[in-house]
Amino acid sequence: MKVFISADIEGVTGVTAGSETNKDHPDYKDFQVQMAKEVAAACEGAKEAGATEIVIKDAHGSARNLIGDHLPDEAALIRGWSGHPYRMMQGVDKSFNASFFIGYHAPGGREGNPLAHTFKGKLISKITLNGDLASELSFNMLTSFYEKVPVVLVTGDEMICADAREMLPEIHTVAVKRCVGGSTINISPQSSIEKIKESARTALADPGKNFVPEIPEFFTLTIHYNDFQEAYKASFYPGAELISPKAVQYENEDYPEILRMMHFVI
Ligand SMILES: [Zn+2]
Repeated sequence: MKVFISADIEGVTGVTAGSETNKDHPDYKDFQVQMAKEVAAACEGAKEAGATEIVIKDAHGSARNLIGDHLPDEAALIRGWSGHPYRMMQGVDKSFNASFFIGYHAPGGREGNPLAHTFKGKLISKITLNGDLASELSFNMLTSFYEKVPVVLVTGDEMICADAREMLPEIHTVAVKRCVGGSTINISPQSSIEKIKESARTALADPGKNFVPEIPEFFTLTIHYNDFQEAYKASFYPGAELISPKAVQYENEDYPEILRMMHFVI
C-alpha cells in the first residue's frame, strides 16, 4: 500500500504566530520538531495499517522543514520546490492508495487560525473556486481526486477539519486547535501525536473511506489580491480577466489548467 502525505505547519499543534513558522526565527525550532513528530505519527499509523511505501511532500515555506530523523525507513521525503504546478502535492500520482494532509490550516477570508491564508498571504487575500471560498486543502484534495487517489485524513485547525468534512463527509480528521481572536487553544502536543497515529491507522483500515468523488466539469477561479498592481499583472495570463481592481477571474474545464494558471500568477 502506497500513501502520499502533504505536510504544512500552520495547522501543527501550538503554532500561533508567523515567527513560529519562519525558519530564520528562533521561535521556529520547537514547532519544526512538532511538525516532524506529527508527520511521523501519521507514517506510523499508516505502517500499522499496512503501508509499505510513503511519500511525504514538505509543503511549507522553503519546503525544507522536515528532517529525515523522525521518519520511518518506508518514507521518502520531497524537500524544496521542483517548479511542478502540483506544488504542495508534488509526487502524487495514480499509483497511490490514499492521501493524508497534516498540519493544514483555514484559508484566507476566514478566521479559523491567526495564520489563515491561501498559498501566499502577503499577495492574496482570498481565492474562490466555483463561488466557494477555496483553501490550500480544497485545491490539494482536488489534485488528489484528479489523480484518483482517495483522501482519507486531514489534521490541522478545527475550521479546516470542518471544511474537509464538508467536501468529503466520511473523511477522518484530527483538530489539534481552535482559534479565538489572535489566540489558539491547543490540545497537548503528545495527544495530537497519539490521535494522528490512531486516525491514520483507522482511516486506512476502513474500506468505507476508499472513494474518490468526481471533480467538477467546469471551474471558475477568482483570485483576490491585496494590491491592485498584482491583479493587473495577473490579468495578462492568457484567458484571465480583471473583474475588479484587485480581482482576476479565469475559467477552464480542465483542472490542471487551473493549477497552471495559479502557478504563474501566485
Ligand atoms: Zn499553508
